Amino acid sequence: MVRALSEVAKERGIKNFMVSYTDLFGGMRAKLVPAPAIDKMTKDGAGFAGFATWLDMTPAMPDLFAMPDPDSLIQLPWKKEVAWLSSDLVMEGQLVAQGPRNLLKRLIRQAADLGYEMRAGVECEFFLLTADGKSVADGADNQTKSCYDQQALMRRYEVIAEISDSMIELGWSPYQSDHEDANGQFEMNWEYDEALKTADRHAFFKFMAKSIAEKHGMRATFMPKPFLNLTGSGCHSHVSLWRLGENVFNDTKGELGVSDVGYRFLAGLIEHADAICALTNPTVNSYKRLSAPRTTSGATWAPNSITYTGNNRTHMIRIPDGGRFEFRLADGAANPYLLQAAILAAGLEGIKSNRSPGERCDFDMYAEPHKANGAKCLPQNLLDAIRLFESSPFLREGLGEDFVNSYAKLKHQEWQSYTRHLTDWERENTLDC
Ligand SMILES: [Mg+2]
Repeated sequence: MVRALSEVAKERGIKNFMVSYTDLFGGMRAKLVPAPAIDKMTKDGAGFAGFATWLDMTPAMPDLFAMPDPDSLIQLPWKKEVAWLSSDLVMEGQLVAQGPRNLLKRLIRQAADLGYEMRAGVECEFFLLTADGKSVADGADNQTKSCYDQQALMRRYEVIAEISDSMIELGWSPYQSDHEDANGQFEMNWEYDEALKTADRHAFFKFMAKSIAEKHGMRATFMPKPFLNLTGSGCHSHVSLWRLGENVFNDTKGELGVSDVGYRFLAGLIEHADAICALTNPTVNSYKRLSAPRTTSGATWAPNSITYTGNNRTHMIRIPDGGRFEFRLADGAANPYLLQAAILAAGLEGIKSNRSPGERCDFDMYAEPHKANGAKCLPQNLLDAIRLFESSPFLREGLGEDFVNSYAKLKHQEWQSYTRHLTDWERENTLDC
């Protein structure tokens, strides 16, 4: 029998549980539930007004219930009297079609029906900024090539070590942290796992990094491109598919150590990358990272077209070694659940349709983009991405009509809100027309 969470609370000294869910825009929403009330809440769910968050609901709709998943429990390392629980969304006894975690679980079941389990690892890049969010917190962090800067890394030791120690305590097996390519930018890596577990941890990691940075008087941001001249924050995802405990992407005789099924999965991502961009790169700001001009460090490290390669970081998909590949499209704004759902949906479609990814591009895509003649481009802005997303028959089938309609509707509203701004650029370029 599964142990009651109230018992877990007594044993671990937990006074409050955060019953949390992630809305369509990646916002984390929660209610604090005192330990004596958690067992009833686990059975009945915590009630929310869905319209008050980004879920495409109306104020007239009945209660939205967040049903906490006891398996997702994480005790906050920096505040041990609180434990976080990720939740599934239910309304009137039905799973909500546009609930991000619900969608990922649906895709995971579809993969299981084919005998597969996807495992994923995410590389979360983020900036540590001043508390007001206006500039890089470390004024001395101003090297042109600041990647792996030892001195800048150690000036932020207290924050990075506290996050890393927290991950060790939680059993995530972190294995490295570094200063990334942009001034003020860091990345921390922990072991890959089954896709739902990685998505829960990814969501929690963002919360943890922000909370620990706040404790130290700073602000952590996963914004894709907070500074135009600096490299943006990606969220590279490493993908493999497993069956009965074996990695089915592994094939020592396959090209670069990847099996036929691995290439078919990869081909699904090549085929649908532009359509899933609205999920992997979900904000107006996301498109200032993609296809961007060269940064002061010398490279953007972001893809500009839909191509794949071997161990070469200038393409959208990199195969660093056998048995997996790295999908480099997504950015820090991606909803952790929708990111994995999008990858899984596209990959499974590639397998089912027996797709081929075409020729591998073994050249420097930044220096010689003309060599990728015929490769599809990525959307140039959020509006292009939303239009490709909502007009994709594959996504309507794979993610469901209700999910696609709700997501596209909210994203169109976001785009319209953005275009209503009068920018300095317009005045500079149009005043004398
Ligand atoms: Mg990186």
